[in-house]
Amino acid sequence: MICQTVKKGTDCFFMKANGCSFTGGSCKPIIESCEGCKKVTEVNNVKYCLSYPDPESRWVAGTCNLATHIKRDVEQIKKKINPLKASKKGIRS
Ligand code: SF4
Repeated sequence: MICQTVKKGTDCFFMKANGCSFTGGSCKPIIESCEGCKKVTEVNNVKYCLSYPDPESRWVAGTCNLATHIKRDVEQIKKKINPLKASKKGIRS
């Protein structure tokens, strides 16, 4: 549904007929790590993420996976691949 609270006019999964269903009833502002990301939108001088209602939670376990301003090198991506699954794929091909 279209947001009627913080990011008015934006299509949002959390918007329901009876209001915002996200924890606390609204999106949370971005954090410092988000600065420079193309997903940032500014509403009434407060910056929000267009993809996540709680940007801080996206940085708890490392880099946000939708961040457009962070370049990940191949080695960093390889580390995230489960080595057991990778070896199984290698055997089949
Ligand atoms: S996509 Fe990630 S880095 Fe970009 S604004 Fe949203 S939470 Fe922040």
